[in-house]
Order: sequence, then structure tokens, then C-alpha cells
Amino acid sequence: MNDSLARLRSRLGDRVVLPGAPGYDEVRRIWNAMHDRRPGLIARCLSAKDVAAALDYATSVDKKVTVRGGGHNVAGAALADDAILIDLSLMREVTVDLDAGLAHAQGGCLLRDVDVATTAHGLACPAGVVSHTGLGGLALGGGYGWLARKWGLTCDHIEAAEVVLADGSIVETDAETHPDLFWALRGGGGGFGVVTRFTLRLRPVGPVHLRTGVYSLDNAREALAAYRDFAEKQPADLHTVGALKQVSAQDWIPAPMHGKPALFLTAGWFGAPADGSVATKPLFDATTPAVVRTQLMSYAELQSLADHSEPHGNRYYTKSCYVIDLTDQPIEEFLGAARDIRSSRSCIDFEYLRGAIDDVPDEDSAFPGRAAPYIYTASAQWTDIRRDPENVEWSRRSVERLGPWWYGGGAYVNYVQDEPEAKFVDVFGESRYRRLAAVKQRYDPHNVLRHRP
Ligand SMILES: Cc1cc2nc3c(=O)[nH]c(=O)nc-3n(C[C@H](O)[C@H](O)[C@H](O)COP(=O)(O)OP(=O)(O)OC[C@H]3O[C@@H](n4cnc5c(N)ncnc54)[C@H](O)[C@@H]3O)c2cc1C
Repeated sequence: MNDSLARLRSRLGDRVVLPGAPGYDEVRRIWNAMHDRRPGLIARCLSAKDVAAALDYATSVDKKVTVRGGGHNVAGAALADDAILIDLSLMREVTVDLDAGLAHAQGGCLLRDVDVATTAHGLACPAGVVSHTGLGGLALGGGYGWLARKWGLTCDHIEAAEVVLADGSIVETDAETHPDLFWALRGGGGGFGVVTRFTLRLRPVGPVHLRTGVYSLDNAREALAAYRDFAEKQPADLHTVGALKQVSAQDWIPAPMHGKPALFLTAGWFGAPADGSVATKPLFDATTPAVVRTQLMSYAELQSLADHSEPHGNRYYTKSCYVIDLTDQPIEEFLGAARDIRSSRSCIDFEYLRGAIDDVPDEDSAFPGRAAPYIYTASAQWTDIRRDPENVEWSRRSVERLGPWWYGGGAYVNYVQDEPEAKFVDVFGESRYRRLAAVKQRYDPHNVLRHRP
């Protein structure tokens, strides 16, 4: 054993996992089975000092470093062959400071860790819609979810962070301390340091009124037009989402629709529950759904509603784009992509954004595309490795066919795939990209931290 490995082992003990060691294959596994990569060493960290020790080791052996938060990045950014994997999955503690209205969440938290700790107090930090997603990657790239129109993105709720820099130093950052780093951490997509603690602003949450309509594809065209007319005029308390996917067998959906592709429109009301029915009903009165379901649920329930449809260990490929409007032709393209779906588990999701996302001044954070009207995501999910090419191609093609209606050249950074660096220039725009590159140069001049797949 060389000196630097001995030093790391003296600190982390058997939390240093080498290829061939018991548990290595289990520990290196991430959510998307497409990415079967083999790190040269895994450092299972419990603290910022452990992270610093792992970075020190990586520098001494001249290896690149990847970081795993929740391991949900679809492109597998948490893993690279032969690199040192800093695994934060044991760092999931959350403490709530009720007086300050803040949560302190360790860098390896899943969204559900934060929700469990905060919703007990009627509070939440706006975040994504699948509770087993990691807070780290989601927040560093932006963080869309049910509360985004009402309160903004997850990255808009980062008040401060503890960060281990590539040289092993541990710093605190906020709007006054290392402001350039703080700017980049909010939406820049990661790679500027290892965040070991996020301090998050919390918001009040109560019961949620949710109404969902299901439409056969024959009625989807008029329903999508009605969705557009409705969604674009709503207050920020109302968040609407749509999905085109195959109907699974569920009691509340008529049996003849099971196994067929359909459009799901959902309106979630985050204002006073008593107003929910009046607020959500007009969307469904204006259309002809096959069935409508109305539910009143807690915010915590809402946050895990989609968990089962995105299980660990399947094969996934997701691409997204921002869409400028939902006029007739993009609607045709949505429907064309839905008809072309290659797997019963795949899905097209879209939602109208704006609201509080767009209230934050553009220069305040690295997050680009605040004024984007719609986000559109084509998520391919399948299990048979032989069907990789057709599913990947479907996802790519589903986004490309919307090319004439892309908002800017951009896409959501957390869904960028195995694409050339030029794609990131498109995502951030040239001047923002240059500013991010300058922050990277200052805090990680030797590009130790990899944040691209
Ligand atoms: C099922 C599913 C649902 C999703 N839903 C949403 C959604 O509702 N809204 C939304 O906005 N996005 C959503 N996403 C996208 C999600 O934001 C990204 O996949 C994100 O990268 C996941 O973060 P993670 O920590 O789990 O990923 P990881 O793969 O662990 O990490 C992703 C990247 O972030 C870096 N990173 C992670 N944690 C840290 C840290 N603490 N410090 C420094 N770097 C870190 C990693 O190095 C890597 O480069 C979803 C993804 C999936 C798979």
C-alpha cells in the first residue's frame, strides 16, 4: 500500500472500497443501469474532512474525481472509469432551524430526507418530483418541481453552503463570502467543489388539491390546446403538468384505456385548499377527458407519488428542451413523438413554467433560461440492453423534432446527455458559460472534479 492510500485508509478505514473488495459492485451502482463504470477507488465519506482527505489522495495519485449525491443523473455523471468516486450517500442528515426558517442538509441527501425533516413542521424546500432523487445534483443544476411557480427553483433556496474545494480546503460560501462560487453553485451544474452541506430556505406548505384528467390520443389535440390556454393565465399557486405515456392498469381509469397511449393533464393547487376545486376545474370543463380524479393530499404524499414509475436498475435515456409555445404544430410534434414511443415505460413530460422562476433577476445566479415558457422531456425507460439504440434514438428524435420551437439553444443542464462541450455553451449562453469557466479556473484550475459523463 502506498503512503497516500495508507493516509486515506487511516482516516476512512473500510469506507475506502477498492475494485475487487466485497461490496464494490454494490457501492458503485447508480440509478441508471446504462452506466456500468468502474471507479479506481470509492471513498465513502461521512464529513467534509473525509472529502478533503479523498481529494488529497486523488491529487497525490493524479486521478480525476467524480461525486455521487443521489446517483440519479441520467447521463451517469457520478461515475467514471478509473476515477476516484467521492460517495456522499452516507451523508444524509438534515437539521431544521425553525426560528430561522432554514434546513441544513448534508450533501448526500435524497429529496425525501429533506421532505421528511421539514414537512413535519409544515415547511418544505421546493425540489423535484421523485423523492429518491439526490438533492446535490438537482440543486446544483436548478431544481424544478411542484412548487417552482409559487416559490422558485431549489437553487433559489440555497442560502449558504459548506464546500470542499479541489485543493482540499473547506470553505463556507454565501452571497457575501466567495460570491462568485455561490453564484456558480446555484444552477451552474456542479464541478466547482464538493458541497457537504446546503443551507436551504424553507417555505410553508399545506395540503395540496390535485386534479388529473386522462384523454385518449384522439382527444389529446384539443386537450393540449386547452391546457395551453389555461396554464398560461394561471396564478403562481397553480402548477400544471402533462404527460404522454401508456396507461398502466389502475382502478380509476376505464379498463379499455389500459395498455394504450394517453394524455394525462394534472393541475396542482398550492393555495388555500378550499379554493382548489374552483381553481383546477376549468381545465377539465373545457376538454373531454375520459376520466377525472380529484385528490387532496399532503405535500409529502405528493412528493413520492411518482417514485414507483422510476425504479432503480432499469435502463434510461432522457433528453429535454425548452419550448417557446404550444401552438398547433408543436402539439402535432408532441403527439407524433408519443405515437412513436418504443417502450411501455417511456414517457413525454411537459409543463408550463414561469411564475416565481422568472421573478429572480437573471444575473443573480448561474441558472439560465428563467423566462423559458415550457419544459419538454422525453424519457426513455426500458430493460433489454438489445433495445438501447431504438430507445436512445426515440428520446433524441423526440426533442429534435421540436427544434423550430426550442427556446434559445438551451436545455435543462441536469438532462444534458453524452454531448460535446458546445452543448453546454448552448445551455448557458456564451457570456454565462465564460463566467462559469472563470469560476472553475479559480476554484478547480486543474479540473480535478469531473462533472460531465
Ligand atoms: C427519476 C428522476 C426524476 C427527476 N426529477 C427531477 C425533477 O423533478 N426536477 C428536476 O429539476 N430534476 C429532476 N431530475 C433530474 C435531476 O435533477 C438530475 O438527475 C440530478 O443530476 C440528480 O442529482 P443526484 O445528486 O441524484 O445525481 P448524481 O448522479 O449523484 O450527481 C449528479 C451531478 O451532480 C454532482 N453532485 C451531486 N451531489 C453533489 C454535491 N453534494 N456536491 C457537488 N457535486 C455534486 C455529481 O458530481 C454529478 O456531476 C430527475 C432525475 C431522475 C432520474
